[in-house]
Amino acid sequence: LFSGRVDFLLSAPQLKFLPDGDFPEIAFCGRSNVGKSSLLNALTGRRAIARTSVTPGRTQELNFFEVGEPTQFRLVDMPGYGFAKAPVKVVEKWRALVRTFLKGRAVLKRTLVLVDSRHGLKDVDREMMRMLDETAVGYRIVLTKADKIKASELEAVASKVSDEMRRHPAAHPQLHLTSSEKGLGLDELRAAVLADVRS
Ligand code: GDP
Repeated sequence: LFSGRVDFLLSAPQLKFLPDGDFPEIAFCGRSNVGKSSLLNALTGRRAIARTSVTPGRTQELNFFEVGEPTQFRLVDMPGYGFAKAPVKVVEKWRALVRTFLKGRAVLKRTLVLVDSRHGLKDVDREMMRMLDETAVGYRIVLTKADKIKASELEAVASKVSDEMRRHPAAHPQLHLTSSEKGLGLDELRAAVLADVRS
């Protein structure tokens, strides 16, 4: 499916611009610069369905992509979070947009929370996880850029993240290790996403 059609559908800066919930959705979120655009592009085999690294504070919209011909499901690129210099107003707007989306989106099958392998979980990731727990939206944690650190360090970070995931009710127990650059873990993640779409 991922090797078939993937088209940009629309960008929703406010919830009133959301598309109708006609298809199952899988959402992607993470701190800015976590490698979200790279992962979306790598998973779909596209060069640029998702733009990489936009200016802080400007990426405040939900971007929808349709997969399959005819459409089987949608990918939702959620606004990045954790900009050091983001004004309070921008953070508040992000929180309101994301929380209301998560709460009301019946077709949302799973959210992927991307975490940089080198950094592990940060407080903004924990806030995101709590928001997902509270809105009862199931999520997977995906470690990105796994090629950037030594195997031993990766193992240590993975084990720490896994431990913490156990305390989060909506977190899927399986932790995904990926590298968009090297293609690591992508087949497994595609299979997991397809299982989520069909769940
Ligand atoms: P976004 O802001 O979350 O969309 O992050 P991007 O996809 O733009 O990636 C941020 C930076 O990390 C870019 O310079 C990418 O080239 C780099 N990057 C993303 N994924 C990987 C990866 O798997 N391995 C390595 N080595 N670099 C990556």
